[in-house]
Amino acid sequence: MTSTLNADPAELAKFSDLAHRWWDMDGEFRPLHQINPLRLEWINSICPLKDQQVLDVGCGGGILADAMARTGANVLGIDLATKPLKVAELHALEAQTPRVQYREISVETLAEQQPGSFDVVTCMEMLEHVPDPASVVRACAMLVKPGGWVFFSTLNRNPKSFLLAIVGAEYVLNLLPRGTHEYAKMIRPSELASYSRHADLDLRHTRGMAYNPLTRRYWLNADTSVNYLLATQKSVVPSL
Ligand code: SAH
Repeated sequence: MTSTLNADPAELAKFSDLAHRWWDMDGEFRPLHQINPLRLEWINSICPLKDQQVLDVGCGGGILADAMARTGANVLGIDLATKPLKVAELHALEAQTPRVQYREISVETLAEQQPGSFDVVTCMEMLEHVPDPASVVRACAMLVKPGGWVFFSTLNRNPKSFLLAIVGAEYVLNLLPRGTHEYAKMIRPSELASYSRHADLDLRHTRGMAYNPLTRRYWLNADTSVNYLLATQKSVVPSL
């Protein structure tokens, strides 16, 4: 049993306070709504989601979980912030989204309870909010079946990402509430790749995400200097 919870109460409170705004397409979570079709299509192109058992870690109000369920997957969304989970449940009820469930449980505890039970695990825009991201990566790796896919997305840590993701997005363009991201918690792709490798997750694909403030559009490209996504696959034979 994990003795201390790998969570920052201030981070969870921040997301709970904004929970009622989660499905407002023009609110604080607009960026997540905008990037959602891009990441969904990318995931689905690597691993077709229909009829897959999918776990979404740090699902919040369920933007990705809901979309994956609509694509035909059976989805469990987990988070440790209570209000966003309630909002996710209400949204599924109102929108009559099939095949989606939500649970308040840590990824580490779920990994102890039901290891190897998912075909796909997604963990998007969450690692930069937890005290020990490597522990989350290990738990995701435990939860996926051998040969299954684990997808991560987070924010790189360098002067450019500081300027664009914090100064630009939170202070100049007001795309995100101030204080959403903390520089020290942002994660370099090499660090995330190393956490993955140590958890028997083989790195298969990497994508970057770009944003044009004039057109207010996002797209995926090869530039991982700010926001990026990794697709990893659980080794079939564990390393010794
Ligand atoms: N993954 C979703 C939401 C991202 S917002 C999406 O991309 O659309 C970040 C989410 O991580 C919030 O819902 C927050 O409550 C959650 N979170 C932060 N720390 C967490 C932790 N330790 N365990 C589980 N979820 C956490």
